[in-house]
Amino acid sequence: MSTLFLRTLRDDPADAEVPSHKLLVRAGYVRRVAPGVYTWLPLGLRVLKAIENVVREEMNAIGGQEILLPALLPREPYDTTNRWTEYGDALFRLKDRKGADMLLGPTHEELFATLVKSEYSSYKDMPVILYQIQTKYRDEERPRAGILRGREFVMKDAYSFDLDDDGLKRAYDAHREAYQKIFERLQIRYVIVAATSGAMGGSASEEFLAESEVGEDTFVRCVESGYAANVEAVVTRAPEPKPYDDLPAAQVHDTPDTPTIDTLVDWANATLDQQYTGADTLKNVMVKLRAPGGDWEITGVGVPGDREVDLKRLEASVEPAEVELLTDADFAANPFLVKGYIGPKGLAANGIRYLVDPRVVDGTSWITGADAPGRHYVGLVAGRDFTPDGTVEAAEVRDGDPSPDGAGVLVSAKGIEIGHIFQLGQKYTDAFEVDVLGENGKPVRLTQGSYGVGVSRLVAVIAEQFHDDKGLRWPKSVAPFAVHVVIANKDTAAVAGAEKLAAELDAAGLEVLLDDRKASPGVKFKDAELLGMPTVVVVGRGYANGTIEIRDRFTGEAAEVAVDGAVDAVI
Ligand code: ATP
Ligand code: MG
Ligand code: MG
Ligand code: MG
Repeated sequence: MSTLFLRTLRDDPADAEVPSHKLLVRAGYVRRVAPGVYTWLPLGLRVLKAIENVVREEMNAIGGQEILLPALLPREPYDTTNRWTEYGDALFRLKDRKGADMLLGPTHEELFATLVKSEYSSYKDMPVILYQIQTKYRDEERPRAGILRGREFVMKDAYSFDLDDDGLKRAYDAHREAYQKIFERLQIRYVIVAATSGAMGGSASEEFLAESEVGEDTFVRCVESGYAANVEAVVTRAPEPKPYDDLPAAQVHDTPDTPTIDTLVDWANATLDQQYTGADTLKNVMVKLRAPGGDWEITGVGVPGDREVDLKRLEASVEPAEVELLTDADFAANPFLVKGYIGPKGLAANGIRYLVDPRVVDGTSWITGADAPGRHYVGLVAGRDFTPDGTVEAAEVRDGDPSPDGAGVLVSAKGIEIGHIFQLGQKYTDAFEVDVLGENGKPVRLTQGSYGVGVSRLVAVIAEQFHDDKGLRWPKSVAPFAVHVVIANKDTAAVAGAEKLAAELDAAGLEVLLDDRKASPGVKFKDAELLGMPTVVVVGRGYANGTIEIRDRFTGEAAEVAVDGAVDAVI
């Protein structure tokens, strides 16, 4: 430690709210460079690499093959899938010297799909699982809690390619099991919850949430049945989804002649008040705005309570625009449109249910031509997404509500997303026409899965779950060093004895941190607690009598043992 590039801090950093952030900075694991952008110092990097290795071993165990793609990417593939637009402000964009658009990759579905297309051509090549452990870039709206939500962060992203649905299911299950092993090895307390697929698209998807008070995700679970879901994904037992065709036709209303956002809001409110006060029939009003440029830009739906906000929100992206009401022909013509209606029992009693064009569900689960960069129409239902059958129930989930499976009641808790697995299906392979020649000589469109682990986030998650009021505490599987030897006795023989013990522990295969600084024992003990190695060995006053002390950082227990045989006692 006398030469280690490490400075511990007495005070919490001013910008830190959560314990892991405070402690990782105070203990000299990471340093902030810009919001959501951090430097990894020696101790932090060791934890990061240890986590990477656990992830790597379990990915290799299911046949994953590690590759490494660039983070600096051309725009084109992301144009093909429309994510250049969909990602909105979250995408770091840049231009090269020739003026070509480029981006820093937020996730790599496109690149893996095109890579497989370029390398593989036959059913005999399939299936394949490829992964990378790589730096990702997302210009998060609220970078938070240090490395917990970074704008630059390390993700393990894996992608499976299969010939059919059964293959995809197998790959998905293999990843699910691998993730369980990873998080068990890291000793994380976590739950697997049903999830929405968000901007990834596709249908089946589950999240791994680490239980934590500081988490930004809320999940519910039913103790009786084990049912667990992100609240965003909870679908309460709704009546059979109505076929798209059964929806009542959109009503047509006259709009102001030259609408501005303000006149439009007034108009919509007045119209909706007339239409929906005490309404007990299904009705809908849709507004389509066309930007002066001509292309589809906005759709808004009139929803009591929400409508003003939603229409106001359009302001950011639209100039005074042409306004029209949507007709069924519009829906028929535009596969990305969502049709919404207000339920028969009213909003408060029943929530809002949205029926979507099934093409949206199978192909693209978000809407192009969003109301602002990165904000899609589904934003209207407050982050909820579509279920595979095309419905979404905008129900609040609350503690004590009945579980959707009827087995008991729901209990809610907070979690941090540490992993996310998706059965994407053919969303990306369709976009890039990723086919191989099938056994019968005909082309087969591949089906894809996508599987992420937040590797750098896990450093913070482990810190969050294991710290105590004295500092960090690392499980053995990821600790920067297994043993922290503190020289707490200036006597030459004791110093030599400590160095010898450290060398013996090292020879026994343990990674050892030796505190050989010229600091007082008190300072050294405080730092040992802050840094959080699982085992601390103190060579102190007892050395003269042939004893040292072994402290367990987790239990706080200390044991005096003889110097002779100390190595065995530590192991
Ligand atoms: P979140 O809901 O926390 O924003 P996400 O759903 O956007 O995460 P995915 O696209 O599913 O993230 O990416 C896979 C994994 O990458 C996540 O499960 C999470 O562990 C990690 N991750 C995502 N965003 C960040 C970030 N900004 N900083 C650190 N890790 C992240
Ligand atoms: Mg996110
Ligand atoms: Mg998420
Ligand atoms: Mg996710």
